[in-house]
Amino acid sequence: MSRTVIIGGGIVGCCTAYFLAGHAEVVVLEKDPSYQYASTTLSAASFRSQFSLPLNVRMSLFGATFVEAMAERVGLVRRGYLVLAGAENAATLRANRAMRLAQGADVALFEGTQIAARFPWVNAQDVACATLGLQHEGWFDAYSLLRAVRADAISRGASCLHDEAVAIDVAAGRATTVRTANGERIAADHVVIAAGHASGRVAAFAGMALPIEPRKRTVFVIRAPLDGTGMPLVFDTSGMWIRPEGDGFICGISPPPNTDHDPGSDFDPDLHLLEDPLWPLLAHRIPALEQLRLQRAWAGHYDMCLLDHNAVIGPFPEIPNLIVASGFSGHGVQHGPATGRAVAEMIRFGGYRTLDLTPLGYERVRDNRPMPESVVY
Ligand SMILES: Cc1cc2nc3c(=O)[nH]c(=O)nc-3n(C[C@H](O)[C@H](O)[C@H](O)COP(=O)(O)OP(=O)(O)OC[C@H]3O[C@@H](n4cnc5c(N)ncnc54)[C@H](O)[C@@H]3O)c2cc1C
Repeated sequence: MSRTVIIGGGIVGCCTAYFLAGHAEVVVLEKDPSYQYASTTLSAASFRSQFSLPLNVRMSLFGATFVEAMAERVGLVRRGYLVLAGAENAATLRANRAMRLAQGADVALFEGTQIAARFPWVNAQDVACATLGLQHEGWFDAYSLLRAVRADAISRGASCLHDEAVAIDVAAGRATTVRTANGERIAADHVVIAAGHASGRVAAFAGMALPIEPRKRTVFVIRAPLDGTGMPLVFDTSGMWIRPEGDGFICGISPPPNTDHDPGSDFDPDLHLLEDPLWPLLAHRIPALEQLRLQRAWAGHYDMCLLDHNAVIGPFPEIPNLIVASGFSGHGVQHGPATGRAVAEMIRFGGYRTLDLTPLGYERVRDNRPMPESVVY
């Protein structure tokens, strides 16, 4: 049996192990099994069919099917995303909705006064139209999903080792060995880079340039005099988002681009973002949130693809048995299952059998051909 070494045991690495185990010897290297700084466990763990690229819609639909099959184990909440558009983005939102329907998603459209009638807690004065996912959207407990997929991968035969990859040996255009901090030299027929926000650094072990870097995102846990029962995740025209969580809500917004740099090892929440700009935006869109109370906050790092906010998935043409699966830029939990299945197919068959992820391949990075995903948070 051939051996695949997967560097990184987050949701992408574990999903790859899940789909590949039994067809190859699978070794997952995870440097921190507590997952303290993993994006997966620090994420908002939400999934949506509402993307701008058809391929991302299809990947999410598979992710939704995967998560729905584990509903009890992961605390699944089936609830849609309410995506709002002002006059300037209304035509794009309508066109995106038509594309999503064609891909198999189930998304309703609300125009003008229909929005306030259906969602009376929303200030819709400056909203031209809105879409709401009716199926295949929601949220869950990310840690539970990771533990479930990891356990299933192990029961299918994968080995998960607590060790850090520190080098990848390459000879004659092939990755041959992964060296570890514990002094192991693990021979490999295939190596998968699923190291999340560290994937750019890991690719450099093999001499490959990969424009994936960490970017900090803060999640605020708040309470407010607003009934979240049945409330969807709201994605505002401003870029802020909010959804119910337990007795309260979680919310966030990206920092301004000129302050959005590689944070290194900084995982401190950026509390100042709540005061400006988040709170005024929340109170404008949902007036009841003027009375919000901050409970706590946490920060995680996106695995940000600097080229186009889209994942890079597939072999490096120069080293065909070295495969990258990273750079999800804020949507990697929901795309983990489709990615894991695709990478397993690439290793088993030398090509994709279900969803063709070729457009996400490394070639677009090498050739500087961005394929931007515009619905990003
Ligand atoms: C605040 C926040 C909110 C988010 N919300 C969502 C959301 O709602 N929905 C969604 O789909 N996505 C969301 N994301 C994005 C999502 O979390 C990531 O895209 C996804 O978790 C990436 O999974 P991963 O397995 O590639 O990375 P990770 O979960 O980061 O796992 C990578 C693992 O690799 C390990 N590792 C790194 N280097 C090495 C090495 N050299 N050797 C061994 N192990 C190594 C790390 O310890 C880590 O455990 C969010 C992210 C953040 C930060």
